[in-house]
Amino acid sequence: MLTIFRARICNFPNPENAQDFPDGFLAVSDTGKISDYGKWDKNKQKQYRQKQCKIIDYSNYVIVPAFIDMHLHLPQFHLRGHYGVSLLDWLKEYIIPAENTLTVPEKTESFIRTFFQEMWRSGTTTALIFSSNSMHFTDQAFKVARKIGFRAIIGKVMTDNKFSSMKMPVEKTEKSIRESIELYNKWHGCDDLLYYAFSPRFGPAATEKLLRQVGDFAYKNNAYIHTHLAETTGEIELIRNLFPRYKTYTEFYYKNNILGPKTIVAHAIYLKESEYKLLAKTHTKVAHCPSSNFFLHSGLANTQKMEDYGIQMGLGSDVGAGPSFSLFTIMRDAYYVRNIPPAQAFYYATLGAARALGLDDRIGSFNKGKDADFVVVKYPYWCNKDVSRTRLLSQLMFRGDDHLTIETYTRGKKVYQKIG
Ligand SMILES: [Zn+2]
Repeated sequence: MLTIFRARICNFPNPENAQDFPDGFLAVSDTGKISDYGKWDKNKQKQYRQKQCKIIDYSNYVIVPAFIDMHLHLPQFHLRGHYGVSLLDWLKEYIIPAENTLTVPEKTESFIRTFFQEMWRSGTTTALIFSSNSMHFTDQAFKVARKIGFRAIIGKVMTDNKFSSMKMPVEKTEKSIRESIELYNKWHGCDDLLYYAFSPRFGPAATEKLLRQVGDFAYKNNAYIHTHLAETTGEIELIRNLFPRYKTYTEFYYKNNILGPKTIVAHAIYLKESEYKLLAKTHTKVAHCPSSNFFLHSGLANTQKMEDYGIQMGLGSDVGAGPSFSLFTIMRDAYYVRNIPPAQAFYYATLGAARALGLDDRIGSFNKGKDADFVVVKYPYWCNKDVSRTRLLSQLMFRGDDHLTIETYTRGKKVYQKIG
């Protein structure tokens, strides 16, 4: 049996154009797959009424594909909005002390559950997530995600290089690798929703030995790698001092084998021409995190350059440095970094990110056979069914926030409903 969601349907199959069916529908099967979508014309009405499908009338609402967050940190989400002078100060002052306390599984289940629910509340159903250094905490994150049905790529943070006075955990290289592989074996692809990403925190906190071992394992097993790159000038200075034989930060990653089509680097702000070339050559993906970059005054990523080089990207909230889970907010900030049309911003928040993560056969857009991951969104005030596509997307992008999210569905199942 199919369920028909009648609504204004917007879909973002490419960066240039959006599809818009002002009186549209989305047909979802019992198994949570998209069976059809488009214009709710007489033929479709007759066809689906004859089949006695359940029809849910959302004609006063807009339905868009659910959002994909390409970069955020589970142990930091309660620390959003803490003022910090710069990335390294903020890490030292707030983040590292907090991450170090999250190790007891019994105490952390509700914390983790809230994190996933906050994403659903914002219309996000898929995320690439940094956990903490704790194997148990990371294991617990997977358990909670499986229990509630959240789609996630999660990784335990790896740090085996003491680079500052910061109380960042310094693991033995072997232990860090062993625990990560154990988690990978247990969780990667254990169902259709969960994957593992090897997650060296960032260049200064990793040894060359660790990166090489991660790179070799990931290459042999086609595994994800998730890390940060060139977020601040201070970080680049650290790389220069710690690893002087590399010409650039990106070359440090490249020569230690961690760049590739399944590697996602967050931020990528301060890059030289040769570094864009290395990212493009290795088909490495970028998580563009404009809100976090504004918050910590890290700088502006050159997304035009990334597009020119054909580097695939998506958007990341980078919670907790980013103050909001809402991809509407991140899209708006992406526009403030560089003037991009709303349809393009929506593409990066949906199918663009799915492609970057290699999950576009299942999510990111409305296509027959894909998982029915979507968000029911309210029209912003002073905006109604009659507005043009361009105006609607612009209004959602500039005025949208989690208050516009009415319901969120993943694989056809309602996982969030706004109260009141
Ligand atoms: Zn981050």
